[in-house]
Amino acid sequence: MSSPSQNTLKIGMIGFGRFAQFLAETMVNQGHSIRATSISDDTDLRTQLGILFFSKDMIAFLESNNDVILLCIPILSASQVIKSIPFHALKQPVLFADVLSVKEHPKDLLQQVVPQDSDVLCTHPMFGPDSGKDGWKDLTFMFDRVRIRNEVTCSSFLQIFESEGCRMMEMSCEDHDKLAAKSQFLTHAIGRVLSEVEVEPTSIDTKGFQKLIEVKESATRDSFDLFSGLFIHNRFARQQLDNLELALKSVKQQLIKRMNEELDQSINTPNN
Ligand code: NAP
Repeated sequence: MSSPSQNTLKIGMIGFGRFAQFLAETMVNQGHSIRATSISDDTDLRTQLGILFFSKDMIAFLESNNDVILLCIPILSASQVIKSIPFHALKQPVLFADVLSVKEHPKDLLQQVVPQDSDVLCTHPMFGPDSGKDGWKDLTFMFDRVRIRNEVTCSSFLQIFESEGCRMMEMSCEDHDKLAAKSQFLTHAIGRVLSEVEVEPTSIDTKGFQKLIEVKESATRDSFDLFSGLFIHNRFARQQLDNLELALKSVKQQLIKRMNEELDQSINTPNN
């Protein structure tokens, strides 16, 4: 693997949806050269950012001497996309990185198929175009150096996030998925439940209720495919969903029990 000159990287993005475009903007501002390949082609945006676009031409994309290949694809497409990469077209070893919101799944896939002389870095920026619209300072960036030999390229890539002020959090993909099931997946699940019961703002909203509305709105802004991916490809999510279901039943039982106790008390208390 060659070393990038003066910390500027040639970054090839596979998948150029909303999140990839959001990342690309900062990367371009930092002086990195971005190339992309995706299914659809947002010509206006890539022209505006000066991005070299390889429309569905994966061979030409892989031959274009990237230092880093960054996977920004939906979780549910990861297996199909990663397994169909024509790795033989690579001219040199590359750092393969991903930003998927689950981590064990892409790690397993990349370890299976990425050529031995290329490196693997699994990451999850814990923010998106909404939470990161005013900059990335103090926002968390999780990463797992799964297989790194070219330290220069890896640290130049991590530097993109470090230099924007991100809180860099190194942890295993397994630990990430355990924590994300308890935090991100749970938030999405509760947001979806709130949407099912059709919670809407009222004229007498409390601050707490306004926060609930925010949870519902942010969960439903993301696609159901993303939510499904967080569930299907995080082996710890099922337990959290079961816990949530049991917790709701338990709270209901506690209330019914208390109500019955109150009723018994009022029946057994003689009137003055
Ligand atoms: P998205 O809007 O669905 O974009 C995914 C991109 O991948 C699209 O450009 C899509 O093309 C492309 N794609 C799908 N299948 C492909 C294929 N077979 N070959 C090449 N490109 C393909 O999703 P996103 O919101 O940008 O998120 C991308 C990833 O980032 C997800 O894994 C998500 O978990 C992760 N992430 C997202 C956020 C966030 O806030 N959004 C934050 C952290 C991490 P088309 O547009 O033509 O379908």
